[in-house]
Amino acid sequence: MTKCLFCNKEAAEYHEIFYGQGKRKICLEYNLKVSLCRDHHIKAHEWKHPFAREICRELNIDYVRVNQILNRNTCDWLENDTKYLAFVRDYLESYFND
Ligand SMILES: [Zn+2]
Ligand SMILES: [Zn+2]
Repeated sequence: MTKCLFCNKEAAEYHEIFYGQGKRKICLEYNLKVSLCRDHHIKAHEWKHPFAREICRELNIDYVRVNQILNRNTCDWLENDTKYLAFVRDYLESYFND
């Protein structure tokens, strides 16, 4: 069973790491989500951006870079941007499935 990213409890739900202004849609597209227990999921929605930062720190994901990408219109993305998001997607997948 998948554990919560932050504690040893069983993960109850998925949480999209980034949100606001269409970011959630891209998170769903790229599977940018983490497994959290109920308590940490509530915190995630209370703290919002600081919590997203915390998630990225924990996973060694470049929060600033991903945010910069997600803040731009998808048609302005460079090849490196989609590559980085794909890298993060694959990393998250292996992290939570191992
Ligand atoms: Zn937890
Ligand atoms: Zn959530």
